[in-house]
Amino acid sequence: MRSISFVTAAAVVLVACATPVATPASGVPTFAGQATTVAAGPTATSDTSAPAGTQDPFVQNGIILAAPGCDGTFTPAQTEGPYYKAGSPEQNILYQGGMPGARLIVVGYVLNADCQPIPGAWLDFWQADANGVYDNEGYTLRGNQFTDEQGRYFLETVLPGEYPGRTEHIHVKVQSPGGKILTSQLYFPGVAANSTDGIYTPATEVTVEDHGDYQVADYDFVLNTK
Ligand code: FE
Repeated sequence: MRSISFVTAAAVVLVACATPVATPASGVPTFAGQATTVAAGPTATSDTSAPAGTQDPFVQNGIILAAPGCDGTFTPAQTEGPYYKAGSPEQNILYQGGMPGARLIVVGYVLNADCQPIPGAWLDFWQADANGVYDNEGYTLRGNQFTDEQGRYFLETVLPGEYPGRTEHIHVKVQSPGGKILTSQLYFPGVAANSTDGIYTPATEVTVEDHGDYQVADYDFVLNTK
């Protein structure tokens, strides 16, 4: 919670500092570059709490999130697996230039049992790279974030590769403020290995939309907060 407050404050400072600039910067990286003496720590690129505008990753990527959809069925828990590492950096851009694999953006809401969005919910994602390999030394393709004021999350990454016994999947922990941690996994439609993976469940399968250079995967988490 403290970190999101800090990021939000930093973003406000950055915007305020950018105001006098004659030609407003079009993106966050420029703001961050101009404000090196103002803010340290998490960059505004990891801030998904920003209002609609140039810093909103949904606006930046032309993504219009469908209205929350749920029937009160909770997102099922899935095994954590052997590769979780606590202490991931707060970041929602896991993709790094030159990284192999298909570009992927994962978005959605975190919802309560009444299908209401939960702002400030914590999500911690970790996954294998396109070759099915986890970074167990560092934090590549690992990052945590908080839902924005609309209860939305945004993750920019690559499509994970398969590894022996496992279909394509992204691990995640989700927690409403003060709530229990749900550990689960996301899956992708139409993957042949889904049918041979004993852990796979269609209940956490994303819907995928092709945006040309990248795919947008959508999944709404529904948490039992009662
Ligand atoms: Fe895994």
